[in-house]
Amino acid sequence: MNGLGREQDQDFFIEAQVRTDCLHQLFRQSFSAVFGSYLAAGMLCWLCWERLDRDLMIGWLILLSGSSLLRFLMFFQYFRSPRSERTPRRWELHYWLTLVLSAGIWGAGALAIMPTDDRLTQALVILFTVGMSVSAVSCYSAYRYMTMVSMALVLLPCTLWLLFQPSKMQMGMAIAVLVFSSFVVGASRKLSEALEKAFRLTREIERAHSISTRAAETDELTGLMNRRAFFEKAQVLYDQCKRTRQPLCALMLDMDHFKAINDTYGHQTGDRVLQQIGQVISASFRQTDIYGRLGGEEFAVLLPDTTLEVARDIGEQLIRAIAGLTIDPVQVLSASLGVASTHAVGDDLQHLMNTADKALYRAKALGRNQVVVAS
Ligand code: GH3
Ligand code: MG
Ligand code: MG
Repeated sequence: MNGLGREQDQDFFIEAQVRTDCLHQLFRQSFSAVFGSYLAAGMLCWLCWERLDRDLMIGWLILLSGSSLLRFLMFFQYFRSPRSERTPRRWELHYWLTLVLSAGIWGAGALAIMPTDDRLTQALVILFTVGMSVSAVSCYSAYRYMTMVSMALVLLPCTLWLLFQPSKMQMGMAIAVLVFSSFVVGASRKLSEALEKAFRLTREIERAHSISTRAAETDELTGLMNRRAFFEKAQVLYDQCKRTRQPLCALMLDMDHFKAINDTYGHQTGDRVLQQIGQVISASFRQTDIYGRLGGEEFAVLLPDTTLEVARDIGEQLIRAIAGLTIDPVQVLSASLGVASTHAVGDDLQHLMNTADKALYRAKALGRNQVVVAS
C-alpha cells in the first residue's frame, strides 16, 4: 500500500474512533435525561393538576413511562455490552429511534394539555418546554443533530400553536421562545464542534505518540527491535521467566565476513542482506520470543520456556535458513551463532547474554557457519 493510501486509512480510522468517542459521550451524558424528561412532565402535571384535563395528563404520563422504560432498557443493554460492541453502527439508530419517540411524545403531549384560555398555564407549559429543550444541549451535545431534532420536537408544537393565536401576548411569547432557541441552537453547534475537535485531537495525539514510540523502538533497516528496545523487553521477559521458573535461552547471531560482502558488492547490497536476515528472523520465531538487531550485523533472540537442546536446533535451523538465502549478486552467505541458557548461567540478563556472546565467538573461532552451545 502506498503512503497516501495508508494515510487515508489512518484518517478514516481516526474518524471512526471519533464517532465512537461521541457515542460513548452521548450515552454517558444523557442517562439522566431518561428520568429528567419524565420528572419534568410529572412536575408540570402536578403544578397544573387543578387547571388542566386530568385524563390527558395521565395519558401523557403513561406514554412517557413507556418511552422512558424503552430508553432505560436501551441504556441498560448498552452499558452491559462489551466495550468492543459499543459501536455507532450498532447503537446510533436505536438511540435515534428512542429519542425521537420520547421527544415526540413530550412535545405532542405538551401541546395536547395546553389550555386554550388560561394564559398563565400556557406560559407555564411553554416554560417547561423551553427548559426541556435547553437541557437537550447538556445531554446530546456530542450529536448536534440529535440536540436539534429533540429541541424541535419538544418545543415546536406548543410554540407554533402559540404563534398563531390571536393575542399579541401569545404571539410575542412564541417569537421570544424562537429567538432564544436560535441562540441555543448556535451554542449547541459550537459545543458539539468543540467536543468533536477535542476527541479528534486526543486521538491524533495518541496516534502520534504510538508512531514515535514505535519509531524509537524499531531498527529502521530491518524493522526489528533496536538494541535499546530489545534489552528493555528482554529484562521484562527475564524477570518473568525467573518468577515462573521457566527456562530461558539466548541466541546471539553474527554474520560471517560481512565486511567482505560490503567491500565486494557495496554497502547497499550489504543493507539488502541485513533486511533479508531481518525477514528470516521475524518469520522464524513465536510471538512470545523476543528478537532484535543489536547493531551492525549482530542479532539476538530470547526464547522463553525452551530447553538448551531445542534452542540449539532452532539456532541451527536459523543459520541454515540464512545460508540458503539467495540475494543477488551475493554468492555465499553464512552466520555464526552462540546459545546459552539460564539453567547454565547465574541470575542476571547481562550474564546470560555475555555467555551466549562467548559461545558465538567460539563458533567464529571454530571456523564460522555453525552453532556453539555454552557449556
Ligand atoms: P566476522 O565473520 O568476524 O564477524 O567478520 P565481519 O566482517 O562480519 O565482522 P566485522 O566486525 O569485521 O565487520 C562487520 C561489518 O558490518 C563492518 C560494517 O561495515 C558492516 N556493517 C555494520 N552495520 C552495517 C549496516 O547497517 N549496513 C551495512 N551494509 N553494513 C554494516
Ligand atoms: Mg560479523
Ligand atoms: Mg559483528
